[in-house]
Amino acid sequence: MTRVSPKLPPWKRLLRQLGAGRARDVDGLRRARAEAERANRAKSRFLAMTSHEIRTPLNGIVGMGKLLADTELTPEQQNYVDAITVSSEALLTLVNDLMDFARFEAGDMELHPQRSAIAPLVGGVVEMLCERAYAKGIDLGYGLAADLPASAVFDPGRLRQVLTNIIGNAVKFTDKGGVAVTVGYADNALVIRVRDTGPGIAAADQERIFGEFEQAANGIDRSHEGIGLGLAIARGIVIAAGGTIDLESEVGAGTSFTIRFPVEGAQAARASHGALTAERFVILSPNGVEAELLRSALAEAGTAVAVHADKAEAIAACRDATGEATLMIDNRIADGAGTFLHDAERPARMIALIEARDRGSVGAAFKDAGHAFLTRPIRPATLMRIVAGDDEARAASPAAGAVAREAVAGLKVLVAEDNPVNALLAVRMLEKLGHRVTHVETGAAAVDAVRDSRAVAPFDIVLMDLHMPVMDGVEAISAVRRHEDEAGLDPVPILALTADVLPETRLAVVNAGADGVLTKPLSPEEFNARIARLNGKTSEGCSSVI
Ligand code: ADP
Repeated sequence: MTRVSPKLPPWKRLLRQLGAGRARDVDGLRRARAEAERANRAKSRFLAMTSHEIRTPLNGIVGMGKLLADTELTPEQQNYVDAITVSSEALLTLVNDLMDFARFEAGDMELHPQRSAIAPLVGGVVEMLCERAYAKGIDLGYGLAADLPASAVFDPGRLRQVLTNIIGNAVKFTDKGGVAVTVGYADNALVIRVRDTGPGIAAADQERIFGEFEQAANGIDRSHEGIGLGLAIARGIVIAAGGTIDLESEVGAGTSFTIRFPVEGAQAARASHGALTAERFVILSPNGVEAELLRSALAEAGTAVAVHADKAEAIAACRDATGEATLMIDNRIADGAGTFLHDAERPARMIALIEARDRGSVGAAFKDAGHAFLTRPIRPATLMRIVAGDDEARAASPAAGAVAREAVAGLKVLVAEDNPVNALLAVRMLEKLGHRVTHVETGAAAVDAVRDSRAVAPFDIVLMDLHMPVMDGVEAISAVRRHEDEAGLDPVPILALTADVLPETRLAVVNAGADGVLTKPLSPEEFNARIARLNGKTSEGCSSVI
């Protein structure tokens, strides 16, 4: 305690006393603040520890669900296993969000910048979310500015997390119309806009929803899952990267988020196509969001484009004095794109816009009839390759089956299987047959392995388990085929590995682009028989293997 000297004049004594009081206040405040900080750290530690402890058994449940899904199940049991998987994965997402939040609270939001490709990252997030969007009947598509760098230095995992959250929200809250994602580059930053035609966010809520545990409807309307952490985490990441998130919205008119995410060392993309100035396109689509993205990508490449929702109008628009336009037909029009193949008035050149699951049916029919198809969400690079009619490269190169034909004894095999016992069995068996085997544990790793092997020594065959973490087998098969479409490469033979012999599973994998199905446990006889059948056909006649 500060002692006041009696010799001091009264005004000085008063000042001393005031000063001492203030010092006591400041001291008290400091102590209280230190106490609050300690309590906050303890809370964050508690959150981080419990989240971690919850995550461990939860991973066990997810993993066991996957193993169970790999066994022979009746359709009823399959439904129950699917429910376990969906619920446990939702819980895992929640716990991961809580962990992130706790880390964030503790001031531990570290970024790990590395050189990363931009288009595949954005495309990957959109493709991951498209199933949910398409199942709801809404559009989801993306467009890339012509001057977007091919790669730059940034934290790809954190940017993916931000995009998954913002685009995921847009899909979650939009019930009509759809979601358009566009990516540009300005002032050393990626500028990503996510626009939706959803319910919009009231002005009063627009700042608040970025707060922790905040939701626009104040959590009263629980029709949508989520606890209100996503935007807080997304904003934290973007701020840590030195960027901004802006929001424009009007109730009833949709929402638009603009993310500025700074990057370094941007490397320009190679121009992948020439100008298409002589071309004309007519897009027939029942929904405007994806059609508009397509229109602007084609218009930017210098073509004339018209969009119609009516079949007769679209056919009429294809013919004008300058000749016939290429007709792009969204398979969601009444009766589907397939009806055009037999229409007397069909244009000479047509491109079907399909979902991955229609690849083996509508897609194959268009290709067989000398037309083309594009899988939604449409990758900008594939769009340019297909509209430029650049399919000759593939036609001129040897069929994929030829590789296997020459090397039946020592094939280069990729096994994608997450269950260690099944993986060990498959790898040992294949090695005993004299093949060289590479093993990966996720669908995403399989896609990377196939892509990376292209330039060096491509795989002769890929065996793909269907239930894997990160990316399941059907998605991985679609992703490999998309990459091949985009780059104009020969399709690598892919056989799906499954214990499930349901016809719908077979149909799903074939439609995703697999060449056949092998049942588990893998037997040498069945593997050899499949290889022999693959060798007896050309790469285009894939479905005959089934
Ligand atoms: P969660 O989605 O878990 O509720 P978020 O922090 O991601 O949490 O979002 C907070 C709230 O912001 C949401 O609950 C929703 O009310 C609102 N919101 C976010 N994005 C949109 C959107 N695109 N359209 C309408 N409302 C949105």
